[in-house]
Amino acid sequence: MAHYVHPDRVMLGKCTRREIRQALASGALKAALLPIGSIEQHNEHLSLDVDIVMATFMCQQAALELYPQATVAPSSPVGYSPYHMARKGTLTLRKETFKAFLYDIIASLKTHGFLAVLVVNGHGGNHGLLKEELPVWRQEFDMVLDEVSYWTGMSDDQRCEILQGYRDLRAGKLDTVARQTALNHASEEETALMLAAAPDRVRPISMEEYDRAGLDYAHDLSPRVREYLEPFAKEGWPAGGANPENPRDRGRQENAQLATAEKGQALIDFHTRYVAAMMQDMIDAAMAGNPWPAAEAS
Ligand SMILES: [Zn+2]
Repeated sequence: MAHYVHPDRVMLGKCTRREIRQALASGALKAALLPIGSIEQHNEHLSLDVDIVMATFMCQQAALELYPQATVAPSSPVGYSPYHMARKGTLTLRKETFKAFLYDIIASLKTHGFLAVLVVNGHGGNHGLLKEELPVWRQEFDMVLDEVSYWTGMSDDQRCEILQGYRDLRAGKLDTVARQTALNHASEEETALMLAAAPDRVRPISMEEYDRAGLDYAHDLSPRVREYLEPFAKEGWPAGGANPENPRDRGRQENAQLATAEKGQALIDFHTRYVAAMMQDMIDAAMAGNPWPAAEAS
């Protein structure tokens, strides 16, 4: 970047129609990043909006790097999170609502002449829905369109360099399935990101405080909550079997204690460069009239 750009300048909703019109007409603005996430429980210490906050943050950082080529379109803060509904505060869209919302935003961007749109996902539960729809929409809109979950550019080796939990997993130090599967959601990884990007949304708590709360997501679930969870039930749960989320919930809280802002900064550096590079490749393909995704090398 040759000069300072105020972060608001890359947020579509904070621009005027005049600014967007002129940027599109001059050819300076070509693409949109579309963040999606969720409003869902992130254990005891992180705000509910982690996933949309981080997806938006990654998009904004990428757009600043690519300025003036890309803007960040506003999106629905809520995603697809029915399996988190036992924890208070979680909101979820139905699959069809989620897909219809995204479709309409992409259609709007296409109408205004954006050449490329990259949906940047911050919530694992959204990923499958996008994968189903994107190829269909790409055909229909006849544009360079793709999606990426922002954390997927990083290899396990690279994660191990930054995150203690992943090193412990590799070294066989995590003794239970709950601990082994508690390494991203609301844990060291996401907490570190939030400490670096949005520390006002982190409320550190001790394991003593966690245990004192006596949390139980295995029993006495209301019929309405069960309706949300039933499609994801494994081995009889939540009808009667053991709820795997109770020990995993505690595992996440434990793993989160390892987070630092420095680790978050290292993760952000990597992820934003990854998202920006993908957006740039898509812009280049659109400008050259090349197909996207590029044909598989034979
Ligand atoms: Zn999350």
